[in-house]
Amino acid sequence: MNYTAHEACPGCGVHLPKSDGPTHRYIGASAGCWAMFSALVNAGEPPLAPAPTNTLLVDAYAAQHPGQPSPQAIQSVAVHLITLYGVLIKGVAVDNAVWLRQQALHPGKTGKKDRFEWLSPPNLFETITVADIVKQTTPSARTEQAAHYVMSVWDAWSKPHEAVIAGWYEKYVY
Ligand SMILES: [Zn+2]
Repeated sequence: MNYTAHEACPGCGVHLPKSDGPTHRYIGASAGCWAMFSALVNAGEPPLAPAPTNTLLVDAYAAQHPGQPSPQAIQSVAVHLITLYGVLIKGVAVDNAVWLRQQALHPGKTGKKDRFEWLSPPNLFETITVADIVKQTTPSARTEQAAHYVMSVWDAWSKPHEAVIAGWYEKYVY
């Protein structure tokens, strides 16, 4: 019998064949999920059709895989949630996503140490996963699913935490 061991990604819950490949230092993804995401954003076969929401894939993915509450993970999740909030809620042009990420970390008056707190993650196992994106066989279908993915992750986080994220945005971005 041909049996392949699977493992569930601790972030999004997707079941993939167990892999010894690399994982990210603080993004809480299984090696298989991380490899799938890296392939999607780097090469992609087929590639994503160009769309503004593609830029937010990295923000959604990091937020969907919060990992453990280390200082780096706390900062990463906060910065990516602020970026999603800025573009999806405040209407900042997606071309300014990099600016948003930098702005969230700009030392400013308060310094950036202990700026953010750990937000207890919502149930992310019910969000769309990268597997749902790569399942699509055409560039346009992938891009459409990628947009759903970004919204799905944002919706999960915004329900319990939008007020805190909005507060960070007001304090550090504007
Ligand atoms: Zn995952």
